[in-house]
Formats: sequence, C-alpha cells, structure tokens
Amino acid sequence: MKLLEERIKKDGIAVNEDILKVDSFINHQVDPELMQAAGKEFAAHFAGQGITKVVTIESSGIAPALTTAIELGVPMVILKKQPSKVLNKNLCHTMITSFTKGTSYELTLSMEQVDENDHVLIIDDFLANGEAATGAIRLLRKVHATVAGLGILIEKSFQPGRGKLNEQGIHVYSLARIGKMSENHIEFIPEEA
Ligand code: 5GP
Repeated sequence: MKLLEERIKKDGIAVNEDILKVDSFINHQVDPELMQAAGKEFAAHFAGQGITKVVTIESSGIAPALTTAIELGVPMVILKKQPSKVLNKNLCHTMITSFTKGTSYELTLSMEQVDENDHVLIIDDFLANGEAATGAIRLLRKVHATVAGLGILIEKSFQPGRGKLNEQGIHVYSLARIGKMSENHIEFIPEEA
C-alpha cells in the first residue's frame, strides 16, 4: 500500500538493521486515517471468503483489526496478553516468544468468542519471526476455528515469518514488505501476486 510505504519512509525509524520504530503512527500514536485505509485494503483482499471474525493480538493489532472488521461487517476478537482470570473462565492459552522484547508471554483466547463455526482473518501490526501469528493460529486451532489468512501492516521480509506461515498453509498478505533496512535506508519489495 503506497500510503503506508510513504509513511514508513517519512516517519519510520530503523533503530538498527532489524527493528523499525513506528511509534508516531502505529505503536504509540495511531493515525486513524491510515488505519481506515489499511482496513479497506485488507477487507478488499480477503472479501468473499466467508470470514466470520477478525482476530488480533493486543495491543498494536487492534486499530487495523477494528477498521478491517468494520469493512467486513464482522466482530473483532482480541487475543489478550494479561486477561483477568476472575472475569474469564473459558480461556485457552499458549506461550509466545517476543521478537522485540526478547522475552516470552502468555497469549489467551476466550473460548466464548470463537468456535468451530468461525472462519477467521488474523490481523497484526508486524510480521518478523512469525511467533505471534503462529501462536494465534495454535489458539484458533484449539477451538477448531479455520483460518482464512493473515493480514499484516509491516512485514520484515528478511526475517523468516512469512516462510514459517506458508509452511503451515497460511496465506499472508502484507501492506508493506521491507526487503532490507539500515539506519538511513528502507527498501521495499512488492507483495506477491
Ligand atoms: P514475530 O512474532 O513475528 O517475531 O513478531 C511480531 C510481533 O513483534 C509484532 O506483533 C510486533 O508487536 C513485534 N515486532 C516485531 N518486529 C518489530 C519491529 O521491527 N518493530 C516494532 N515496533 N514491533 C515489532
């Protein structure tokens, strides 16, 4: 998506060759118009596939997931990192290794919100090693939901996430694919046809 690529070039900060900071439009401050455009793009790409829910991982996936869900006319479900175990009884859990933080965390799905009748589109902000997305898929498979695909705002294509997901039979659609980056240069590659 040209709009997102241009914004990354303008406001994205490559901290090093691996980590991109997008705090001013995705991670800390959110650009609503950009998220609306992203939602329209994801919804157009995955239209007509019988998607019943959009699932995302808190917190930075929520904005693009919500705009996608609005466009598709379906609910959005959040996979939580710190759910209230008092308020939520029917939870299933999985462990995820965080690329950015270098730590592990527990990801949780409320089994009251997704079940075997759901065909789910997963939306997230970044794809790096594919750990978060693989964990989300593990949770969805535990409740026997099917996965239509994965929509990503920014894919770092020099990291192994896409390959890992394709091996699991998951279609990945990214709005911006970074082929290479350094502190003063970000190179994009086109999405596959
Ligand atoms: P993965 O599980 O694919 O290795 O990493 C995906 C998650 O890590 C994303 O949900 C995102 O929160 C975070 N992440 C990975 N790489 C980056 C990055 O370069 N910049 C930012 N801001 N977050 C990242």
